[in-house]
Parts: sequence; C-alpha cells; structure tokens
Amino acid sequence: MRLSGKKVVMTAAGAGIGRASALAMAREGATVYATDIDQSALDALAQESPNLICSHLDVTDAAGVANLVRSVPTPDVLFNCAGYVHDGTLLEADDEAWDRSLALNVRAMGRMIETFLPAMIANGGGSIINMATVASSIKGVANRCVYSASKGAVLGLTKSVAADFIQDGIRCNAVCPGTVMTPSLRERMSVGGNFEDAYKQMLKRQPTGQMASPEDIAPTVVYLASEDSKVTTGQFIIVDGGWTL
Ligand code: NAD
Repeated sequence: MRLSGKKVVMTAAGAGIGRASALAMAREGATVYATDIDQSALDALAQESPNLICSHLDVTDAAGVANLVRSVPTPDVLFNCAGYVHDGTLLEADDEAWDRSLALNVRAMGRMIETFLPAMIANGGGSIINMATVASSIKGVANRCVYSASKGAVLGLTKSVAADFIQDGIRCNAVCPGTVMTPSLRERMSVGGNFEDAYKQMLKRQPTGQMASPEDIAPTVVYLASEDSKVTTGQFIIVDGGWTL
C-alpha cells in the first residue's frame, strides 16, 4: 500500500472529489483526518473505513482551523480540497461573490497551510496538495470569472509555498481537474431546470466524450500524497480529459 503509515489531514471530504480521494487514500493505508462542513456527510463517510477519522470544520472559520491543528497529529499530507464555484461573468459578480470566493478558495487554503506548516516542518516535511482547476490562469472558461480568479490565486499560492519551503522538506502541488460530475456540479447544472440540456452542453467541451468522475481524480491525489511524487513540487497536475489540449 502506497500510503501505509501516512497521516493525512484534508478538507471537503464529505462529497465529490474530496470524498473519493479520502476513500482512495484510506484504501492505500493512510490514516485520514477527514473534515467537512456537512456533519451528516462525515457520519456516512466514517462508516466506510476505520482509517477515516472525521471531524466537523468550516474552513472559513479561523478558530475552527486553530482547534483542528490541536486535535489531530501532525500530518504527512495536507489536502486542501474545499472550494466554491461562482457562476457568472465579471458583470454578474457582486461583492458577496468576490468575498465568498476569495475567503473560501484562497484565504481559507492559505490559513490551513500556515496553521499546519510549522508542525510539518518540525516533523521533517510533507506534501501539501491544493485543489485548483484548469478554469484559472490555465484556461479562460465562460461564466467562471471570479472562480477562475480565485483558483488562479491558488496556483500562485502553490508555487510560492513550494519555493519558500522546499529546503524544509515541504512539497506543494496543485491538482487541476476539468469537468467532474460531483453533487455541486449536478446542482449547478439543474439550476436552469433542464439538467439533460446542461449535461449535453458540458459533454460537448469534453474531447474524450466522457465526463470525469471523482474517482478519476482521486489517483492523482494519491500520487501526490505518496513518495512516488517525492521529486515533484510546485507543479499543476492537469487531469481534464483533454479539455485544454
Ligand atoms: P462538491 O462541491 O460537490 O462538495 C465539496 C464538499 O465541500 C462538500 O462536502 C461540502 O460540504 C464541502 N464544503 C463546502 N463548503 C465548505 C466549507 N466552508 N468548509 C468545509 N467544507 C465545505 O465537491 P467537488 O465538486 O468535488 O469540488 C471539490 C473541489 O474541487 C473544489 O475546490 C472545486 O473547486 C474543485 N473542482 C471541482 C471540479 C468539478 O467539476 N466538480 C472541477 C475542478 C475543480
């Protein structure tokens, strides 16, 4: 098992890519300290494996993050998965959209890293994995302006942490999926009242003719968590089914 003996702390483990990744890392032998804002999702997840230790966390709650670092062991792997998608152009984004996107997608990720880094450094290092997307500085995507701006910031954060702490044994990489069928995407696709039509439109942008599933992204997270990626840092791993080809 590729993650035997490793301790992972992660956010947004309750659904989608986070849930699939938590399960995949647990299967590979890691002890996963899985957090989410949704307690019922965590209760269900905890049933899946004794390697999953679940606790409630709203990543935007600074006090909650401070409590978490005191209640879990120092991780070998920190997986920052939580994120929010604002749907719309710049002209459709108000202050609330900007504030929520930057608070959840960027500041909360930075706070998780700054909170766990000192102990990880004292422990001899570790792997930080940040959830980004190709809808960022990698690709211009319609109706994802504020989301893309915030995820572009995630890529900058990733490179900076990788550069600043490389001498401390810290690796920091980002995962950049394309379109992944997750509960929140289903919800967004249902908003117009015609899920089938929205699905067809989404599928058109997939050159493979297939939507990705959360389970298609999880192996990349396992790879970045494992020693297989020990010489990889500051990289953006694109898993987008050829969307940016
Ligand atoms: P999702 O949005 O379906 O679910 C994510 C989980 O995050 C839920 O369990 C939810 O309870 C939790 N969450 C929401 N707000 C939270 C908060 N404040 N604190 C803690 N947890 C919170 O999952 P997803 O679509 O797999 O998205 C996960 C990540 O992957 C996000 O960062 C997203 O931007 C990124 N991503 C998704 C896609 C996609 O197509 N689905 C593509 C690229 C990147």
